[in-house]
Amino acid sequence: MRHVLGISGGKDSAALAIYLKEQGRAPDIEYFFTDTGAELQEVYDFVDRLEAYLGKEIKRLNSGADFDHHLVRFNGFLPSARQRWCTRVMKLEPFEKFVGDDPVISYIGIRADEDREGYLSHKPNIKAVFPFVEDGLVREDVFRILKETVGIPKYYQWRSRSGCYFCFFQRRDEWVGLHDRHPELFRQAMEYEKFNDLTGERYTWIQGISLEELIERRSSISSKANCRTTRTWEDRLFDVDDEEDQACLICSL
Ligand code: SF4
Repeated sequence: MRHVLGISGGKDSAALAIYLKEQGRAPDIEYFFTDTGAELQEVYDFVDRLEAYLGKEIKRLNSGADFDHHLVRFNGFLPSARQRWCTRVMKLEPFEKFVGDDPVISYIGIRADEDREGYLSHKPNIKAVFPFVEDGLVREDVFRILKETVGIPKYYQWRSRSGCYFCFFQRRDEWVGLHDRHPELFRQAMEYEKFNDLTGERYTWIQGISLEELIERRSSISSKANCRTTRTWEDRLFDVDDEEDQACLICSL
């Protein structure tokens, strides 16, 4: 029986890895990080820091091709919440290849204060377990664990999740944050959007609005975001809607 724990670069999986290590549970656990090649540099830096703390390799997995290659395979259709080929091809399939047909226990960082299943592998040889749920750990515990060890990933100051820089699950104010913090990545995300002047068809990351239009209207987005900013960024993270996170479990937990 193999024991595996997927590190997404997000807070919950990192805290779970640290928690299990400190508890001395599953000492033969294998850590892995499924790299889409489109993660933020802050995510890569955090995974490196976590690996150093754990004192054990976090195996980097990938799909064998970059996003652009897969985009061509999918006829140029950008992934979306309804056509979510990116997670299946760039996250789930490399994971399932990694475990093969071995019987596996997969440790998942869902917390006791959440009610979600998320997007998990359903291969019969993979059994998911939820130590935070079993032990009653909640969001405050996750933050405490991280603060006492590797720290909270800095991208949480402007973004509520890890995952690809162009992730369509990010909120509008997070796109604005990407524009301000990583203008080059924002520009690259813009280049993926396509417009057909003849047919009027538009292929945009956000339904109904292009990234260019988003930035033109940023003042209204920023002021709405500012309504949420009366507290510190760490406190604001507590406001993130778990419903919203549900769709992106494997990418950002
Ligand atoms: S982070 Fe977002 S864009 Fe990247 S694989 Fe996950 S759902 Fe797709």
